[in-house]
Amino acid sequence: MTAGTPHQALYRRWRAQTFSEIVGQEAVVATLRNAVATGQVSHAILFTGPRGTGKTSLARILAKALNCTNPGPNADPCDACPSCVSIREGTTLDVLEIDAASNRGIDAVRDLRERIPYPPGELRRKVYILDEAHQITKDAWNALLKSLEEPPDFVSFMFASTHPQGFPPAILSRLQRFDVRRLTVPEITGKLERILAADGREADPEAVAVVARLAAGGMRDAESILDQLLSSTAGRIEADAVRDLLGLADADLVGGFTDALAAGDAATGVGLLDRLEERGRDLRVFLDQVVDSLRERLLADLASRGAADPGIAAAARRLAGIDPTRLGPGGLRLQLELALLEPSLAYATTPAPVAAPARPAPAPVTPEPHREPQREPARPVSPYEFGRPAPSDEPAPSDGGGQLPAREPIRAEAPPDAPVETPATTPMAPPADPVAPVAPVDPPGAAPLPDLVEPVPVAPLGPVGAADAAGGDDLERLRHGWTSVVTTITERNRAVKPLITACRPIGVEGNVVTLGFPEEQGFLKDVAERRRPLLEECIGEYLGHEVAVRCVATNLDLLPPLPADADAAHILAEAHRIFAEDLAEVPEVT
Ligand SMILES: [Zn+2]
Repeated sequence: MTAGTPHQALYRRWRAQTFSEIVGQEAVVATLRNAVATGQVSHAILFTGPRGTGKTSLARILAKALNCTNPGPNADPCDACPSCVSIREGTTLDVLEIDAASNRGIDAVRDLRERIPYPPGELRRKVYILDEAHQITKDAWNALLKSLEEPPDFVSFMFASTHPQGFPPAILSRLQRFDVRRLTVPEITGKLERILAADGREADPEAVAVVARLAAGGMRDAESILDQLLSSTAGRIEADAVRDLLGLADADLVGGFTDALAAGDAATGVGLLDRLEERGRDLRVFLDQVVDSLRERLLADLASRGAADPGIAAAARRLAGIDPTRLGPGGLRLQLELALLEPSLAYATTPAPVAAPARPAPAPVTPEPHREPQREPARPVSPYEFGRPAPSDEPAPSDGGGQLPAREPIRAEAPPDAPVETPATTPMAPPADPVAPVAPVDPPGAAPLPDLVEPVPVAPLGPVGAADAAGGDDLERLRHGWTSVVTTITERNRAVKPLITACRPIGVEGNVVTLGFPEEQGFLKDVAERRRPLLEECIGEYLGHEVAVRCVATNLDLLPPLPADADAAHILAEAHRIFAEDLAEVPEVT
């Protein structure tokens, strides 16, 4: 932009105008290009994905591609012909963009039906882009349904939504769906660097990295933060300036606190909290930074060794229980202090007995019993973007909760003989102890400080799946030797490591070995099933006979721990639950 033009937000100025300008989303773009080239673009399309990842940009580019009079190679719109320009400038009446969340949008959707039958005035095809489409009212959907069932040839509907689960099923089934994913830090960094270069500005690479990480996968947020930095800083953008602007703690403070957590060094940790508060840093933001740092260390461990450092993993688990929205005496400061103190409260460090599977429950963290394997809420948008309230279009579990779902109440005791394959329907807390909380979710602030409560022993299930005697022996052998089986498998294929670390042998019946995966991570099980030959080969070699492997999703908390590093296994399962999204993005696995 030249001087004198009114300031236009960076993300508008840098909005992708062609398929080739889209960052990431290779699969979606390839499919769209192909559909345009072969004339097979559906009349009703849904772009779904987190906020700020380019859904409406894709819809506009597709609208251009459908109307471009001079398309480039690979079905890319030219962005220069009158059709492309009128769509880019928003001057054509044939492309109508409606924000379904606004009042005007609701009226516009209602009025749409009358307009649909009329052919386009200027372009080849009329395109209705409905943003925030999950907000469309029931009446408006009913009005649209007929048009979606029998659309005129010259009309395209493009819906964009962060919440496709809010669509009526009858609508959803008629849409061709494209899942737009969060962008990676390098993808965001790359674009931010291009913007800086084009503006002739310089930035400390660490500053750019901090912005990219804060944006939590949303390019629009990253661009907005950069925009703010560019206008508030005259010279080179330094990492400290970014931290100041965003109220972030220094990296060494975060690292020091993480170390203190892992080591149970409460005195150091409390001192760091004092320093933070003296500098007026927001503890909620700090909590997110610490969680971020713990997660990085866990993932680095998983990638390099296939196992998590138990101290780090236990620290992550303790932070997972923190409710950052709690105010008053039991507020965030106290919860952080308790997280520092807890290793010395002994519950987490009780060594597992070597052979006997019965032991105290490692921690009162319970996987959500009915949670669908769902990637989207696993990594909500960073809650501390520019002091804006938690975005309403993102299912953030709690403001400032970051990646960590609110901790749930303690399960009083495991059903002693719950069938392993039906954990979702198994009552989580039998009414044996009327004092124990049984509701699956507590309102924020009402959850007990769970780690102060006495751990309740979990009754072991014993061999699962009605194993016969021989099967029982095999199961015992497999459980005892599981670490070496895991090593063999990962030696043959490193990409399987996240999978195999998440699962456990839970039953042997004849030659059928059942592997259990955390039930809230159905996708791991699905991926594992595609890798079954390797698993069967390695497990078979270990047991000395051929086996078939069956993968089930189950509640691993209800199972006896593995004899070897039982607590680590639980912690790891927990880490996988918390950090599911990152693991899902390990590219070799899928
Ligand atoms: Zn064009």
